[in-house]
Amino acid sequence: MAVCKVSLPHLGNYHIPLSVLFTLGFDIEYIVPPPISSKTLEIGSRHSPEFVCAPFKYTLGNFIEAIEAGADTLVQVAGSCRLDYYGELQELILADLGYKVNFINLAGMKKLDPLSVYLRLKQFNPQASLGRIARVLPLAVRMVECMDKVEDYIRKNVGFAADQDLFEKTHREFLRDLRNVRSRRDLDILYRDYKKRFQDIEVQSPPNPLRVGIVGEYYTIMEPFSNHFIEKELAAKGIVVDRWLNVTNTLLHAPKEIKEKVKPYTSYAMGATSMATISRALRMAKMGYDGIIHVKSFGCTPEVDAMPVLQNISRDYQIPILFLSFDTHTEKTGFITRLEAFYDMIVMKKRKRKREYLPGFV
Ligand code: SF4
Repeated sequence: MAVCKVSLPHLGNYHIPLSVLFTLGFDIEYIVPPPISSKTLEIGSRHSPEFVCAPFKYTLGNFIEAIEAGADTLVQVAGSCRLDYYGELQELILADLGYKVNFINLAGMKKLDPLSVYLRLKQFNPQASLGRIARVLPLAVRMVECMDKVEDYIRKNVGFAADQDLFEKTHREFLRDLRNVRSRRDLDILYRDYKKRFQDIEVQSPPNPLRVGIVGEYYTIMEPFSNHFIEKELAAKGIVVDRWLNVTNTLLHAPKEIKEKVKPYTSYAMGATSMATISRALRMAKMGYDGIIHVKSFGCTPEVDAMPVLQNISRDYQIPILFLSFDTHTEKTGFITRLEAFYDMIVMKKRKRKREYLPGFV
């Protein structure tokens, strides 16, 4: 029988493998909080310092929603920026508000390796067995990889689908079925089936489509509500959307030597995702992408530090970069207007380039 009810704030669809890990691995009930919404933001903002970055507000709001849904144990993750202080502050805020919950702050741990995390979580279920977790962990990891591969395929193809709703529907069904997977064999069969289903959806991609890369801050990129569903907006315009940042690429298979790759542009790591932002932007610029969109939360110091470097890349490679900063006050209309202007600009630039290389093109 489950001994406690644990929850983490939403980040995209990663609650699915987390739920499998906690439920099957630790025998701890996992409470899936309500999806991130304007209500989450409203609750989080009401109880947060005004100038803290938006992920703090979203995660605090989602913690409160999780408690109201029955969670009694909350987990906050660690990071290489202010995120490391957030758990401590959120724990105090929740206590001040009168919520009596266990708060596991991974940032407060001296060591953050899988064994230390296991020992910390074992306090909440002393019966948790290392053998069982060792069996479930690879399944959860593989789930993350499958989810990320599917979402990557969608981003690159949905903009050219004859029926874009079919992509969304198939994705929803994939996630629904993923929730019921309990073994590696089931997962492999499910992934194979859905891979075929996605590939069977008719896609009519032009020979030289617009390609836009998304770089920037972890939370704002990966939690679609917090970026006003930017990927969907771009796909609706018929654009190949390339977003490298996901859990597979950053946590499971983190690349080495990013610093070396960005050397001509920066010598010092600026924390959080800033180096990944620069290295991906540089790569996309070298690959001749039509544009880059830099997404971050208002006040995100590491990504603010990356911006001048991105401007240098933009100048050297003549690649347009749109800088978008999201906060609680970001209005959808203003965001759409900027996106439309960026789109018009990259379309004109591409046409102009074609005219240069193909005389007579109108
Ligand atoms: S990366 Fe930026 S936005 Fe995200 S938690 Fe850190 S400072 Fe805040």
